[in-house]
Amino acid sequence: MPEEKEESKAASVSDGDKKKKDEEEYEKICYVCRRPEHVAGPMVSMPVGMNLCHDCMQKAFDSVSQGGFDLSKIQNMPYMNLNLSDLGNLNPQDIEIPNRQKIKKRAGKEPKPELDQKDIPAPHIIKQKLDDYIIGQEQAKKVISVAVYNHYKRVYLSAAAKEAEGEVQIEKSNILMIGPTGSGKTYLVKTLAKLLDVPLAIADATSLTEAGYIGDDIESVISKLLSAAGNDVEKAERGIVFIDEIDKIAKKKSTSSRDVSGESVQQELLKLLEGSTVEVPVGSNQKNALTPMTSVSTENILFICGGAFPDMEDIIKERLKEKSSMGFSAELKDEHEKDSNILTKVTNEDLRKFGMIPEFLGRLPITVTLESLGRDLMIRVLKEPKNAILKQYKKLLEMDEVNLVFEDEALEWIAEEALKKKTGARALRAIIESFMLDIMYEIPKDANIGSVVITRAYLDKNGGPFIQMRG
Ligand code: ADP
Repeated sequence: MPEEKEESKAASVSDGDKKKKDEEEYEKICYVCRRPEHVAGPMVSMPVGMNLCHDCMQKAFDSVSQGGFDLSKIQNMPYMNLNLSDLGNLNPQDIEIPNRQKIKKRAGKEPKPELDQKDIPAPHIIKQKLDDYIIGQEQAKKVISVAVYNHYKRVYLSAAAKEAEGEVQIEKSNILMIGPTGSGKTYLVKTLAKLLDVPLAIADATSLTEAGYIGDDIESVISKLLSAAGNDVEKAERGIVFIDEIDKIAKKKSTSSRDVSGESVQQELLKLLEGSTVEVPVGSNQKNALTPMTSVSTENILFICGGAFPDMEDIIKERLKEKSSMGFSAELKDEHEKDSNILTKVTNEDLRKFGMIPEFLGRLPITVTLESLGRDLMIRVLKEPKNAILKQYKKLLEMDEVNLVFEDEALEWIAEEALKKKTGARALRAIIESFMLDIMYEIPKDANIGSVVITRAYLDKNGGPFIQMRG
């Protein structure tokens, strides 16, 4: 079977190439202590693809010279739980560590400034690009564009002039984002990361607990970012972390037990937010014996914390009322009651009252509020963004050469239904999907159909869609 032989030869050549490429791209990891090359230093390579760092090698020799070669007796090796006898029948391929658990090599010894100042888009450009996707939220988009611009300028400065004597140090500008559910918080951050081409990790504050308790520890957030950056530490160190549902880790009002998922999580987040170096597992969010570890600096990571902060409006109203009762007219009170976007008036005092600790708020110097989307904005969300849901359906039917049209009244109906659900723009997709299923199923049946108009009557179940034939 000469052909088969050829094939297997070709496969083994490409396997070899892949291995070589991996060796060039990824760091070696010590098989015993699991530290990567940039932490543990150069490795000694063993025949079966195992690598050992000098420390572990030395410890192995020391233990031999003290009598007996039992690696499991070696002390002070945090990740050591292997016994060489376990390796007896092991296939060398099983020892190989998958790439997702390896760390990409750093660019070179001298860290070059990763960002060129020219590469940082100006705030108005960032805002323009956000406008293509995010409807409304003008003030929030403006504040974020400036904050992000300043943040990356700071990253550039710290890379170019490492704390030059007397140089002005620009403070970190982490962001607190307050806005009702479905107002576009996550979407805004995702769009931002995409247009800046930086890795993004999204974490849920409710899943985080104080270290040692059931749940994810705080470092898991950075672990996620590292994997979003393809295990490239330098890239991760310039990324964005979005921590959602941050209002859920408010200080508990009355605590008879230990507050492991509230105040103490806020406490533990402090060090990440202000910038520190953390040890994180690579390719997994759990630290265990077989996971390699690496250190990541959070100094230049932009943290954005978002939350709906329910009842915050009452806290603000209360404060404003107290103020206006000190001498001003009752009209002002009424005004506060009616103000639909009262959230924009939030202060640190209100957030503290809500249960956020002052140190935590101190590390989120920029507060952005997003407004709840009304009927008109909802309609715009349906039609205007670059990847608007209506555009997507239109495109799908275009492929069948069918023109899909939505009557204005039909769009109003969809927006009104979505408002009833009180989950913001998130409800729109589900509503549309519920009636588009029939359209998407029936229309391709008849090749003569040239256009379909979705009418309000159809959505109200008082009639069918308006269908026109070709020709
Ligand atoms: P949340 O504020 O709860 O994080 P999301 O950002 O997850 O809300 O919004 C859910 C979805 O609604 C998004 O994926 C997006 O499609 C849509 N959406 C929400 N707000 C807007 C907006 N202002 N402009 C365009 N689309 C939006």
